[in-house]
Amino acid sequence: MLYDKDVTTNYLQGKTLAFVGYGSQGHAQANNLRDSGYDVVVGVRPGKSFEAAKTDGFRVMSVAEAAQQADWVQMLTPDEVMSDVYKNEVEPYLKPGDVLGFSHGFNVHYKEIVPPDFVDVVMMAPKGPGNLCRRTYKEGFGVPALYGYFQDYSGHAEDLSKEFAKGNGAARAGLLKTSFKEETEEDLFGEQNVLMGGVTALIETGFEVLTEAGYSPQLAYFEVEHEMKLICDLIYEGGFNKMYADCSNTSEYGSYVVGPKVVGAESKQAMKDALENIQNGKFAKEFMDDYRNGFKNLYKMRERSANSLLSEVGEQLRERMPFVKEADKYSTPQSA
Ligand code: NDP
Ligand code: MG
Ligand code: MG
Repeated sequence: MLYDKDVTTNYLQGKTLAFVGYGSQGHAQANNLRDSGYDVVVGVRPGKSFEAAKTDGFRVMSVAEAAQQADWVQMLTPDEVMSDVYKNEVEPYLKPGDVLGFSHGFNVHYKEIVPPDFVDVVMMAPKGPGNLCRRTYKEGFGVPALYGYFQDYSGHAEDLSKEFAKGNGAARAGLLKTSFKEETEEDLFGEQNVLMGGVTALIETGFEVLTEAGYSPQLAYFEVEHEMKLICDLIYEGGFNKMYADCSNTSEYGSYVVGPKVVGAESKQAMKDALENIQNGKFAKEFMDDYRNGFKNLYKMRERSANSLLSEVGEQLRERMPFVKEADKYSTPQSA
């Protein structure tokens, strides 16, 4: 890992940085880099984000104008629209020696975006949501980040990505080198199999088994969803050791004996299949095809998830527990 003291070059100084998109990452990175002393402009379509960036005192303009003014274009729109925004409003204005920056390798790795050979293509991927990056920066810390490059035109692309990460506050917590391929594949694997896909399927299945066996939906919700945070917090703070130390011996014993049966050989094979579909580009194609087809599948699945019994029961119960909303304090959008 690299830290602030390890990043000593100065190639970023005097460059104009354009942030394309002012959402979760865009607002955090634009504010952090500005506070670190860099010249920042924001390029975004008219609307909510545009107004938010203006309120926060940025020079805000169309993406095309921002791309023309900038030496560094940091692409922070949603991944699925990025290649269209790039082709129409960024690529025509790239000059030799410009830097094209990303916080996720998806578009470059899967060749949705093919940058010209006369620019540096670099990555700074924070390991946390934008609001946490902004809050920790203001508190004098930072969220760790991955850095690296896909294309090195200038001969110092790697230094540039490190300086950018340092400007975002990430080197206070630590920088880890990666490649576009590695970052893209591990990020997709994690969110599909463990962090989001895995966790929601586990909660949902536990909820189904309990309610189908006659336990009340409210009881099942508290057991398999509400308490999830408690366990995750303990793991986050001190790993499995702290979590087990804070829980009963009964629960610890049951966990060792039953857990591997629930997530066993079948799940491991499913994870391997998912990894293969990430590596061979099948998942990326399926996702982009659905986007180009009006996100029909995404919207159908979102609807099903939002209207499940689990979601309805959870919503009712959380109404009476305003304290759980406090946990959201730092993840609501656009609080620069
Ligand atoms: P958000 O959805 O939060 O924000 C997207 C921004 O792009 C909004 O400001 C939106 O404006 C703008 N936008 C959307 N469409 C267009 C368009 N056609 N032209 C111009 N601007 C547009 O995105 P994230 O910050 O979540 O993601 C940005 C990148 O960062 C992605 O590559 C993602 O993978 C990566 N990333 C995200 C993390 C996170 O914590 N969210 C963590 C690490 C990486 P509007 O308000 O008008 O819709
Ligand atoms: Mg991730
Ligand atoms: Mg991701």
